[in-house]
Amino acid sequence: MERTDDEWRAILTPEQYTVLRQQGTEAPFTGAYWDDHAPGMYHCAGCGTPLFSSDDKFDSGTGWPSFTRPVEDDNVGAREDSSHGMRRIEVVCKACGGHLGHVFPDGPGPSGMRYCINSCSLTREEVGA
Ligand code: FE
Repeated sequence: MERTDDEWRAILTPEQYTVLRQQGTEAPFTGAYWDDHAPGMYHCAGCGTPLFSSDDKFDSGTGWPSFTRPVEDDNVGAREDSSHGMRRIEVVCKACGGHLGHVFPDGPGPSGMRYCINSCSLTREEVGA
């Protein structure tokens, strides 16, 4: 999916634009989903691609919604990020290239991974909705 910068600005809220298109990070404990426990699928706020399931969500204590794995590996991409003096793995929506957050190898369960995602890069669709 290709959109111009002006199109993204028109579609997204200012906060979504900053996170998704400018690799921003929302303040912890402020987003819609860090403390959300309803069942459902979390989609990309930019393009609607399904990214994470509530089945894989866990309380990381970080103030950001956290998941052990993507719902489909093909939908979520990873790339090295050396900004802010850190070496991290950035997580992006493969369909639209939107920045979602970062992934760290300190998660629970079999995957051992923690996908630390900005709430505003997601929209949750409730089961049965
Ligand atoms: Fe997307």
